[in-house]
Amino acid sequence: MSRYDVVVVGAGPGGSLAAKTASELGLKTVLFERGKKPGDKSSSGCGLAPRIFRDFDFVREMDIPGLKIKYQSLHMLDENLEERFMMRWSPSDLGEYAEAREYFQVDVYRRDFDRFLANLASEAGAELRTGTLVEDVLKDSEGRVRGVVTDQGEKVEGEVTIAADGAVSLISYKAGLRDKWKPDEITLIVDCDFQASKKRIDEIIGPEEYCNHVYVSPLFPAPYVAMMPEGFHVGYGQWIGRFASGYGERPYEYLRRVISSKPLKRFIDRLDAKPREFHAHLLPWMPRLPAHTYGGGIMLVGDAAGFACPLEAEGIHYAMVSGKIAAEVAAETISSGDTSADGLKLYEERWKKSVIGEEFSAAKEWAELWAGIFFDPKQWSIITPLANNIMFWASWSNPHIKNLQRQISKYKENAPFLLEFVKSYLYPLLRKSNFPLFRSLLKLGWMWLRTKKRKGIELIPEG
Ligand SMILES: Cc1cc2nc3c(=O)[nH]c(=O)nc-3n(C[C@H](O)[C@H](O)[C@H](O)COP(=O)(O)OP(=O)(O)OC[C@H]3O[C@@H](n4cnc5c(N)ncnc54)[C@H](O)[C@@H]3O)c2cc1C
Repeated sequence: MSRYDVVVVGAGPGGSLAAKTASELGLKTVLFERGKKPGDKSSSGCGLAPRIFRDFDFVREMDIPGLKIKYQSLHMLDENLEERFMMRWSPSDLGEYAEAREYFQVDVYRRDFDRFLANLASEAGAELRTGTLVEDVLKDSEGRVRGVVTDQGEKVEGEVTIAADGAVSLISYKAGLRDKWKPDEITLIVDCDFQASKKRIDEIIGPEEYCNHVYVSPLFPAPYVAMMPEGFHVGYGQWIGRFASGYGERPYEYLRRVISSKPLKRFIDRLDAKPREFHAHLLPWMPRLPAHTYGGGIMLVGDAAGFACPLEAEGIHYAMVSGKIAAEVAAETISSGDTSADGLKLYEERWKKSVIGEEFSAAKEWAELWAGIFFDPKQWSIITPLANNIMFWASWSNPHIKNLQRQISKYKENAPFLLEFVKSYLYPLLRKSNFPLFRSLLKLGWMWLRTKKRKGIELIPEG
């Protein structure tokens, strides 16, 4: 039987970071991956958040194709799938560091990114064993995990096992740490990978104008278009528990409807794009803090733990952060001789103090906002006309003051909806963010009083 300090299952971003860190800390580490190569089994593309480049400086050195996404847009379609309102925005000056002010994400293919990270783990000294499915865990008489069993029946002992085996995470079940995900904790994402030539994308969109898109309509829940180095992805997801209740019960049918809607069809035609591959993947999207992330001899990282962000299920950064923390805790507990559940509780304490704990402090509020607004098509039959009216005062259809009156009465008509939005979604988030609401309101009132004292504006300055 082979023996290691650390056995890592899954060479996704979480597993490779765990294996890389453990090896750098001097631990004998093995990294198992069921795919022939890392990335083979993952959703084909992803966006890397700017903080990945800030927090993991070795990612700056990666030499793989990627698109810097400098714009995001939201398209509101009506029930005929015509675009009625569109917003496009760029990174804000509020970004705390250079990358956050420059781009939203870098879109890459997982086959490239996962291989890049797994290679770093190998270079650090981890033994990478691909094409190997881990089927079970080894347990001692007290139920503590002592290693894993592969599909070839090989028993591999490890002082600590790190389960980084993604959303399904067979290892969490086998270790007795998790039963099935609850229906409001897991989403199914269907996605179509389109191929288009980079030359054509650059001619039509322009290399400085890469933009990802979200489409909302009364007919389907918030699909996205993510630009990729060889084309783009069109995808759409929903919580499993809601598929059966009228929010998208036939995922591929919805995806087909999205792809054949006029704005999407135009986009596909302009880029002369061809569908290359369909995917369906599970993705945890938790409205609450993940509860069981460690046990005797084992820690769960990334999707296996449920760490994707509760607003939009961005999961790569949290997988990498949790993988690194788990490896550091493995090193400390192996050195202190306590890798029992009591010892590994340190892992939970650490991730709760990290950006992961901070993100999940408003998990319920963020998930409810997404479920109640973006993933609820019926809301868009109200929101889209309201948004479309925003500039009505400027219309040349009537004297502008009359337009403004009509606009205000429309908003008054929808006051119950707007108040409900503030009460159910906005206020809970403001309260959670410790926003110094009342101080800010007082300040705004004071500024308003001061501007009232100002003299009228001169249309034609004297002299
Ligand atoms: C369609 C889609 C789009 C997404 N887009 C983004 C995005 O743009 N940005 C972002 O940050 N996040 C995105 N996410 C979320 C992100 O992909 C995950 O949060 C992230 O990949 C989690 O990393 P991980 O290492 O925990 O797990 P994974 O990336 O799922 O890696 C798990 C690895 O374990 C292997 N494995 C599984 N079981 C076994 C086993 N028994 N034995 C051996 N190997 C095993 C798998 O083959 C896989 O390589 C997206 C998810 C989906 C589904």
